[in-house]
Amino acid sequence: MSTKMCFEIPVLVPSTKGSLVVFGVESTSHTFGVGIIEFQNNNVCVLANVSSQYKPERGGIHPSEASQHHVNVSNEVVKRALSEAGISISDIDVVAVAVGPGLGPCLRVGATLARFISAYWGKPLVPVNHAVAHIEIGKLVGNMRDPLIVYVSGGNTLIAVQKDKRYRVLGETLDIPLGNLLDTFTREIGIAPPYIVGGKHAIDICAEWSSEFTPLPYTVKGSDLSFSGLLTAALRIAREAGGDKTKLGRVCNSLRETAFNMLIEVVERSLMLTGKREILLVGGVASNTVLREKFETIARFYGVRYYGTPPEIAGDNGLMIAYTGLLQYLYGRIVKPEELVVKQRLRLDEEVYPWLL
Ligand code: AMP
Ligand code: MG
Repeated sequence: MSTKMCFEIPVLVPSTKGSLVVFGVESTSHTFGVGIIEFQNNNVCVLANVSSQYKPERGGIHPSEASQHHVNVSNEVVKRALSEAGISISDIDVVAVAVGPGLGPCLRVGATLARFISAYWGKPLVPVNHAVAHIEIGKLVGNMRDPLIVYVSGGNTLIAVQKDKRYRVLGETLDIPLGNLLDTFTREIGIAPPYIVGGKHAIDICAEWSSEFTPLPYTVKGSDLSFSGLLTAALRIAREAGGDKTKLGRVCNSLRETAFNMLIEVVERSLMLTGKREILLVGGVASNTVLREKFETIARFYGVRYYGTPPEIAGDNGLMIAYTGLLQYLYGRIVKPEELVVKQRLRLDEEVYPWLL
C-alpha cells in the first residue's frame, strides 16, 4: 500500500472535528510493523506502513527468537515510519497496539513500546484485536460494508459475518490453519523456509513441477474444515516420492487444490446461508494468486462483489492496527498504560464493536 493514499471510512463513526494522527504497532507473530495514518472528515490517509519480518533459518516460528527480532528492529522500524510520515512522536494523537491473539513474547514487545510512548508522551492508548484489524483494513481498502469474511492466515482460518455489532464465526478450522498447513508441509518435505520467494509460496513453486492430481483426504464438516488428515496423507506420499521432483510436484499440486477447494466449498455454503452480496478475503494466505482466482470465479458465478486484500496489507502490518485503533478511539475505547494487557488467545467474536452492523 503506497503512502499518501486516502480512503473513505465505510463504517459508522461519531463525527469528529479536526484531524487525528494514529500510530499503530503490530508484533503478534513474525512481523514487527508500524503504521501511521491521518484521519480527517471521515477519511483515512496512509502516512507510513513499515514492517520487518522475522524469518527463521530453519523450522517454524520460535517465539523467543521472533520476539528478539522485534526488539532488535523496533528502533529502526519506528524511525523509518516517522520519517516516511514526516512527523515526530509528539505529533501523534493516539497510540494503538495489537494485544492478541498471538505469541506471548512477541505481543509483549509491541505492548511495551506502546505503553512507553503513551506514558512518556501522554498519548491515549488503544488496544486492538489483531484478527479484527485484518478484517477492518480489508473493509476500508475494499470499501465493503457487510461482506462474508474469509480470514486465512498462519494462525487462523475462518468464515465470519457481522451480526448485532459482533463478528460471528460461521465456520473455522477444527485443527490447523490453512497457512500453517502450507508452511508445515513445505517445511517437512524440505523445500522451505523461506516460505515465500518473489511473492510465491513454496507450495506454488513446487506445484509447478506437475499438473497431475492425486485424491487426498477432503474434510469438510458443515462449515468447519479440518486439514490435519490432509497434511498427514500428503506427507506420507511425499516421503515415498523420495527426491523425484515430478512426484513431489504432484503432491504439492494436489494438496493445494484439495485445501483450497475445501475452503471454497464452505465459502459457497456460507454465501447461500447468509445471502451476503460481498466477499472479503483477508489474512496472509489471501496473497495467493491461485486462491484469488478461485474466489474471482465463484464471485462471478454467484454475481457477488469480491475483494481480496493485496499482499502489502493481507499479511500482518502496522497500518491495520493504526486504523482499527482509530475506530476504537473514536468510540472512546482507551486504556491506561498500566491497564494494557496482552491476550494470547483473544478471539474474533469475544467483544462487541460499536461500529459494526
Ligand atoms: P499472516 O499471519 O496474516 O501474516 O499470514 C502469514 C501466512 O500467510 C503464512 O502461513 C504464510 O505462509 C502465508 N502466505 C503469505 N503469502 C502467501 C502466498 N502468496 N500464498 C500462500 N500463503 C501465503
Ligand atoms: Mg495475522
